[in-house]
Amino acid sequence: MGGNDMKLEDLKNEWANELPSPLIIAGPCSAESETQMLETARRIKESGAVVPIFRAGIWKPRTKPNGFEGVGVIGLNWLKKVKEEFGFKTTTEVANAHHVAAALEADVDILWIGARSTVNPFTVQEIAEALRGTEKPVLVKNPVNPDLALWIGAMERLIGQGIENIGAIHRGFSTYQKTKYRNTPNWQIALDFRNQFPNIPMIVDPSHICGNRTGLASVAQEALNVGYQGAMIETHSDPDNAWSDAAQQITPEVLAGIISNLKTRKADISGYEDEMEKHRTLISDIDFQLIGLLSQRMKEAEKIGIIKKDKNIAIFQPDRWKIIREYAAQKADETGMSQGFIERVFKAIHEESIEVQNNIMIHK
Ligand code: PEP
Ligand code: MN
Repeated sequence: MGGNDMKLEDLKNEWANELPSPLIIAGPCSAESETQMLETARRIKESGAVVPIFRAGIWKPRTKPNGFEGVGVIGLNWLKKVKEEFGFKTTTEVANAHHVAAALEADVDILWIGARSTVNPFTVQEIAEALRGTEKPVLVKNPVNPDLALWIGAMERLIGQGIENIGAIHRGFSTYQKTKYRNTPNWQIALDFRNQFPNIPMIVDPSHICGNRTGLASVAQEALNVGYQGAMIETHSDPDNAWSDAAQQITPEVLAGIISNLKTRKADISGYEDEMEKHRTLISDIDFQLIGLLSQRMKEAEKIGIIKKDKNIAIFQPDRWKIIREYAAQKADETGMSQGFIERVFKAIHEESIEVQNNIMIHK
């Protein structure tokens, strides 16, 4: 099968199953020189870390002009040398039809579409058409903005051109506010994606999520904990002097240390079904009770709403809300739950109570 009649959920994506787990992609943000590329590759190999795929950006999308925009096609020769001398598969970013033609010509093994391209349907369409029918895997980074449909749409454009070996790279989403991340992970979007397309391999890019070196290991581990297949980690022979993304790149030796501490999690629960089933039954029962309790709570809120309407009292009572929040925070503490979580739950409940009472004021 091929072309337009395939659906994303039907893809088999066996390319990823044939590679070691966790599937690590490492290499510099940008290819800078032949020496930098070969030294990085050699040291990754010598570190003993299992890294099947070597990455390097040849064409670099930069936020402002006059930055280093990549070495261009000459870097493709260096990628070829990395493959021949050290046996890595290679991958690079393609952002237009010329990049695709050059990368295919140079036999780059895997191509990726960058976050700034995924946002643009014209760009994605151009890339997809240039890649038409290739069997090489194509990895699609999430768009810079938190829009799941754009991410999925980009993959649908690929499949529309008969590209059936696809993967997703989660590199976080940009926000205007400063956070501890360069790009906030927004795990829920990535997990919604995974739920919808469990057959599409999911790779985390902790380098672009963190923007620094210290958070890489824990973000990579969090991703494996929720069932991702692997991680793309920017690795450079001399990170401090890298021409792009210096703050987040690590040496091959540091990379090896991170990989050796990563724990992979199996998706398969066989052998543990009975034990899991026992807990799942209990959880379903508790969920059922929670819904029953919430419904009772809303009925009480409704009764209060009727009183408020009759007596012409405002729905929102700040003092009462303060008491509820304090009580909830105290109970969260006593039961060892996070205050943030309980706060979020109670905000949602309170919002719904206000909605219920508003309906009474308007309609009854
Ligand atoms: C990169 O991987 O170097 C890169 C430019 O990534 P992103 O598209 O995620 O910003
Ligand atoms: Mn980078």
